[in-house]
Amino acid sequence: MTSVPRIQLNDGHSIPQLGFGVFKVDPVETVRIVSDALEVGYRHIDTARIYGNEAGVGTALAESGIARDELFITTKLWNTDHGTQSAFDAFDASLDRLGLDYVDLYLIHWPSPKGGRYVEAWKALEQIRESGRARSIGVSNFLVPHLERLLAETDVVPAVDQIELHPAHQQPATAAFAEEHGIAIEAWGPLGQGKYPLFDVPEIADAAEAHRKTPAQVVIRWHLQRGHVVFPKSNRRERMAENFDVFDFELSDAEVASITALEREGRVGSHPDDVD
Ligand code: NAD
Repeated sequence: MTSVPRIQLNDGHSIPQLGFGVFKVDPVETVRIVSDALEVGYRHIDTARIYGNEAGVGTALAESGIARDELFITTKLWNTDHGTQSAFDAFDASLDRLGLDYVDLYLIHWPSPKGGRYVEAWKALEQIRESGRARSIGVSNFLVPHLERLLAETDVVPAVDQIELHPAHQQPATAAFAEEHGIAIEAWGPLGQGKYPLFDVPEIADAAEAHRKTPAQVVIRWHLQRGHVVFPKSNRRERMAENFDVFDFELSDAEVASITALEREGRVGSHPDDVD
């Protein structure tokens, strides 16, 4: 069994650096897809209440028979649940759908700054962490001003910030702030969601040829060597296996630098200030 490296979090826990994401995984197909991912070897699953597939994730986990302490499960609080009681209720409902006693990581999905309640939501997450039912807590899509406000007004520094990050959109200001404050970066859309033509870029295609790997494997390897936590998504088992098969080669420093130089502010998702 491939052993996936772990990243140390600022709260004493650690997280497998490579996982499997289930955004846009159809609830009807989720049990099959997550079961395939677990068979391939993934032990870290990234879901969210808004994906509508927590129940399928939970069924696949239960059917797998894999010991709970070998798994790392993340879910997220949706934007309409930032009030204190709504956050507690939403968390309980997520745990219930997942069929778990605790999650490894619970995130505020978006800062939703127009709603103005992410500090209140974070204080609820602090209490959830205190209860032991979320081992770690973090945020997602938080930019520097959102992080600054949390750090100024609350007690617990987020363990992670999960942001859109791929070679064409690396969010250097947020990544640098996170590093300075001991917040691990999780890269969502690590392959540009298939929307950004990463695989044809010569720096990536050439490295793939040199290492006899695919462009997707090179991009995942770049994330790992840059220190990001990453959970590419695919419904197809052969691609799940391809994306997991990234521990038998290493990009040179020059290759990593040439891919890092592909930054284009090429956002493929929404700007966090625009998501309500
Ligand atoms: P991704 O970058 O992982 O891209 C997924 C797409 O890439 C697939 O649908 C497929 O078309 C293609 N692909 C996957 N493997 C491939 C391969 N080996 N070769 C060629 N093409 C391949 O995008 P994503 O799913 O949006 O991001 C990964 C995970 O991040 C999600 O599943 C979810 O868990 C998380 N996420 C979080 C947020 C957030 O707001 N926090 C937003 C989006 C995604």
